[in-house]
Amino acid sequence: MNIILLGPPGAGKGTQAAMLVEERDMIQLSTGDMLREAKNSGTEMGKRVAEVMDSGGLVTDEIVIGLIREKLEGDKKGGFIFDGFPRTLAQADALAALLEEQGETLDAVIEMQVDDDVLVERILGRAAEAVAAGGTARADDNEESLKVRLMAYYKQTSPLIGYYHAKGQLVSIDGLGKIDEVKASIAKVLG
Ligand code: AMP
Repeated sequence: MNIILLGPPGAGKGTQAAMLVEERDMIQLSTGDMLREAKNSGTEMGKRVAEVMDSGGLVTDEIVIGLIREKLEGDKKGGFIFDGFPRTLAQADALAALLEEQGETLDAVIEMQVDDDVLVERILGRAAEAVAAGGTARADDNEESLKVRLMAYYKQTSPLIGYYHAKGQLVSIDGLGKIDEVKASIAKVLG
């Protein structure tokens, strides 16, 4: 089973994906994690994308599609969870083509709905927690970058809601509840 978790930053995609990895032996494909890894390891690509990521904008389709292509060719285990990908219509079309090449299907697109004020609260809370624990916050977990990230979501990513609805693949769930409540809503979709 291959699924997309779709939602704005702070919707809880990563948290839910991690649990699906544990419980269903699925593979989490987070382009955000892949890009942060590239950035931290100082690869050429990492250096190129660092500024865009830190400001909250979207990295080019070509780069993220390349990252996903590599992963789809590997072990598929219990299926893929696409977390933070696709984020544009071009990425969605590329994903459809890549899955077809691999003889795979997209089984569900789960849209996690969360109000903006909660998103901001969650993300700034995550940044404060990281600092309190002696670490550092994500470079884009600040008010200024967050505004850009939310705008990128509404402008470039939210059209995917209509796109997947039209394809009959969209299921929208309430992402506002407790982690276990959201988890139960996802479990219901996955069966
Ligand atoms: P995330 O961890 O999903 O919040 O992603 C962090 C940042 O990585 C985003 O704000 C973008 O700059 C970049 N990024 C992650 N995934 C994508 C994607 N699919 N397309 C473009 N940029 C992405």
